[in-house]
Amino acid sequence: MNNFFHTKIEFLKGVGPQRAELLQKELNIYTYGDLIQHYPFRYLDRTQFYKITDLDESMPYVQVRGRVRGKEVLGEGRKQRLAATLVDEDGNEMELVWFKGVKWMQKTLKNHTDYIVFGKPTSFNGKWSMAHPELEELGEEKQTTSFLQPVYHTTEKLKAFRVESKVIARYMEMLLKVAVPNINETLSPELIDHYRLMSKRDALINIHFPQSVEKYNAAKFRLKFEELFYIQLRLLRQKTVRRADLAGQVFRHVPTVTEFYKNHMTFDLTNAQKRVIKEIHKDLTAGKQMNRLLQGDVGSGKTIVAFITMLIAADNGAQSVLMAPTEILADQHYTGLKAFADRLGINIGKLTGSTKTKDRKVLHEQLRSGEMKMIVGTHALLEDVVQFHNLGLCIVDEQHRFGVEQRSRLWRKNPRIIPHVLVMTATPIPRTLAMTLYGDLDVSVIDEMPAGRKEIVTVHRFDSHRLKVFQFVRDQIKLGRQVYIVYPLIEESEGMDYKDLMDGYESIRRAFPEYQVSMVHGKLKAQDKDYEMQRFVRNETQIMVATTVIEVGVNVPNASVMIIESAERFGLSQLHQLRGRVGRGAEQSYCILMTGYKLSKDSKTRLETMVRTNNGFEIADIDLKLRGPGDLMGTQQSGVLDLLIADLAKDAPILQESRAAAQRVLNEDPQLEQPQNQNIMRHIKSLSVNTVNWSRIS
Ligand code: ADP
Ligand code: MG
Repeated sequence: MNNFFHTKIEFLKGVGPQRAELLQKELNIYTYGDLIQHYPFRYLDRTQFYKITDLDESMPYVQVRGRVRGKEVLGEGRKQRLAATLVDEDGNEMELVWFKGVKWMQKTLKNHTDYIVFGKPTSFNGKWSMAHPELEELGEEKQTTSFLQPVYHTTEKLKAFRVESKVIARYMEMLLKVAVPNINETLSPELIDHYRLMSKRDALINIHFPQSVEKYNAAKFRLKFEELFYIQLRLLRQKTVRRADLAGQVFRHVPTVTEFYKNHMTFDLTNAQKRVIKEIHKDLTAGKQMNRLLQGDVGSGKTIVAFITMLIAADNGAQSVLMAPTEILADQHYTGLKAFADRLGINIGKLTGSTKTKDRKVLHEQLRSGEMKMIVGTHALLEDVVQFHNLGLCIVDEQHRFGVEQRSRLWRKNPRIIPHVLVMTATPIPRTLAMTLYGDLDVSVIDEMPAGRKEIVTVHRFDSHRLKVFQFVRDQIKLGRQVYIVYPLIEESEGMDYKDLMDGYESIRRAFPEYQVSMVHGKLKAQDKDYEMQRFVRNETQIMVATTVIEVGVNVPNASVMIIESAERFGLSQLHQLRGRVGRGAEQSYCILMTGYKLSKDSKTRLETMVRTNNGFEIADIDLKLRGPGDLMGTQQSGVLDLLIADLAKDAPILQESRAAAQRVLNEDPQLEQPQNQNIMRHIKSLSVNTVNWSRIS
């Protein structure tokens, strides 16, 4: 966008300073450029009207034509409201109500006049009503060339100043009139041609005021494509820049790896594990720094892959680090890796916040001298005193818990050559999201479970069946197993939830007096939490009552039952993560989802999905569709998901195409210096100006 689009919004005809300030505060609209990108979130089909008898409460918004017959102000003070009656052509009635702007509506709403009203219909005692409908006097509709009328997001505050959707549409019309000559093409002629895209100019016109269904679809496609294209282009450029710039140590030798395969493996790797190790090995011998994301569902066997990668480093005289977000997880990784390392007599250490000063000194010394080849730990690894002889590989578990800044502190521990990086995550992310969040990383996926693993049996039970469920728990404990019971404590500060947990704990203790019960929640001090966890790990307690703090990575193979209370309150991915705490041993495991009878449609879908499948990727896809990307675990902080028009849940095909397009462009012209790509280069520059929008910092 050129300078024209940096013009402050207050200069647009009809806006003025007061509304400009509101538009800034309420909708982040500062400039012409911001306004033109305030795309409609819905359109009104001007040809579609409902009769009052055809209304249905499941309808989100409808358009009804009728005549206003009678209006009166009811109630006093804050309870004051304006009620009017709308009568449609069949003579059926509907009430229109306003709780705000009563005086204004009283003045402007004309009695005995035909209107088109637009809003959400609700029915009470068989009477239909609509609160705060949008109104348009019949015969007054403007003769726009558009058959679909745009509906824009606005807020209560803006509406109070009468900046309703309709008014925004008027601003938009005004803006487009002056803007059209200033709209530059932002994609190259090649791309426009190859992907048969609508021009930027036509797209902006038609997204606001579609001239036909075909043109609207073309406009939507073009703008989505462009939005995703620039995200992918940025990520792919980062990737190529890094590739070109960053040399990596070459790990060619694998004697111990070979020995390990030959003499010490107690199981066969799955094909997925083999494939992933091959991908990693290829990176490690390429002379470039590896930046790879390893995705694999809980229990898919990432630890052995991590170990073999560390072993490759060790075989080439390099040290490796595995960093986990919590002490418990670090412990478990350490235990898992040490079991492998011991078979080969490899020195492996653990460094966490609770490592004693004396031991710490020894570890520091052995890391500096290079005597210690592998180290597992938490943030404690980041401290400056931790120095390496030759750090060659960093593995980070549960990526989203570490900030980029923290990770880069790890990379810098080798001043000569940046270590290879492997990021591991057990949170399956749909491909579209992975491509957007981690598009600068290469992705490896373990999409296969080790053979012989018993699928976790998942059932949904209503609270009224609790006694039966408890009997089942008792039977399992009698067989020697352990049980998790999880309560929703989404916000650790919510008093209500906390009470639920405590009540739950008490009732469990009463129901199972013959067994020991642990309890873990976020309000416990770290050491108390650890103590309780350890008791459960050692099978000193049979039942673990907990909040979602146990969600991440905890491994107690003997635990075979996961009961999730108020399961409807958990997100789908979170339910799946929790379920992953069981099914880690040889025994058949169970997940029991407890709920009351009253369930929303989405809750039902979540529960049914859990019962139907154990496939984390399938679950992540459904979760993405249910919730949208913004809410998916760990992705909230990520600004890349603030998309204006594209939707990662629905636009996977467009994303694929736009990524391929970005790749094509960069293959032919990595520096984007050829004339045909000047539109693209210019747009990138203007985007980077806009990323720090100084006018927004006040
Ligand atoms: P995660 O991916 O959740 O970290 P782990 O690495 O902890 O999974 O592996 C889960 C369990 O499966 C471990 O006990 C591990 O030893 C075992 N395992 C891993 N790979 C295989 C395999 N190919 N065959 C049999 N068991 C395996
Ligand atoms: Mg693991």
